[in-house]
Amino acid sequence: MRKLSIIAIVLLLNITCNRVDTLNEPQVKKAKNVILLIGDGMGVTQIYAAMSVSEKPLAIEKFKNIGFHKTYSLTDFVTDSGAGGTALSTGKKTKNYCIAVDSTGKPFKTILEYAEENQLATGLVSTSSILHATPASFIAHDTSRYNYENIALDFLDVDIDLFIGGGKKQFANREDKLNLIDSLKKNQYSIIDGLANLNTEFKGKFAVFTADEHNPEYADGRGEMLPISTEKAIKILDKNENGFFLMVEGSQIDWGGEENDIDYVISEMIDFDNAIAKALEFAIKDGETLVIITGDHETGGLAIIDGNMNNKSIVTSFSSDYHTAVMVPIFAFGPGAEEFGGIYENTEVFEKMMKAFGFSK
Ligand code: ZN
Ligand code: MG
Repeated sequence: MRKLSIIAIVLLLNITCNRVDTLNEPQVKKAKNVILLIGDGMGVTQIYAAMSVSEKPLAIEKFKNIGFHKTYSLTDFVTDSGAGGTALSTGKKTKNYCIAVDSTGKPFKTILEYAEENQLATGLVSTSSILHATPASFIAHDTSRYNYENIALDFLDVDIDLFIGGGKKQFANREDKLNLIDSLKKNQYSIIDGLANLNTEFKGKFAVFTADEHNPEYADGRGEMLPISTEKAIKILDKNENGFFLMVEGSQIDWGGEENDIDYVISEMIDFDNAIAKALEFAIKDGETLVIITGDHETGGLAIIDGNMNNKSIVTSFSSDYHTAVMVPIFAFGPGAEEFGGIYENTEVFEKMMKAFGFSK
């Protein structure tokens, strides 16, 4: 009798355990929101240069899930920002200078377009023109990143909820005389000039212009545009109960590299880190947000060849005035973050975001 009870208990335990296991399976946590922060031209050295001179630890130092991705494009060992952005936004390697298309012009669907299709809110923020290669790769389709007027037209084909950046000229004062400001208004956008005028209390779709072309450098008076934009964008997009996708670009780390100007690189890098801090702060509170930080390529072939830990100074050297081929780091926090460790292709970043959202193609 006792033997039978023991068998019964063992059987019961087995059933209970199996049931717990089955219950656990669907609990693999999906990300409700994804915030992808791209430091254009940000390699390991740009990060370490900023860490070395900063008085306080950077927000990026808090991330525990870290990997690397290979940035070469379909045609070149050294990618441009169009092909680099396209790999991240669509999971496809393409020819340099292409924006979310193959070399014949056939469009690739972007993660932002998938998010729209799945009824999520979507947003783009950039310290350059919003039409520049990196943000354009998430919303436009063009064989040339320099077709700015065509890229602006593509903004009308996607029901993006919010964009903040420069580039008003190609909406308001076009060579073809079309008035895209009126078209945006017809599509129910509030047109906002200047970040200070963006009120985050209201629901709706917002086109926020912070410059006619590019925003100035941080050191030239851009101020806290990037961290404030990040914070405001999150507040607005988070009103969508299905979740959101937001891409935030620190564009000018790249330009500092191209100018071989280490002070420019460091001030843009620290500004970008302040935007990372805003995203991370939200994600920690929210618990359903995946934050991903990466670069599209390294710029400048930057090296730190000496320094002084006591006075926080560094001696640097650039080996290029353009992008380099070296793999770049990627950092992740939140549901799905553990997928980002290892060394992989830049195109995998898109696949990992799709998986985190639970989107199917
Ligand atoms: Zn770039
Ligand atoms: Mg860029």
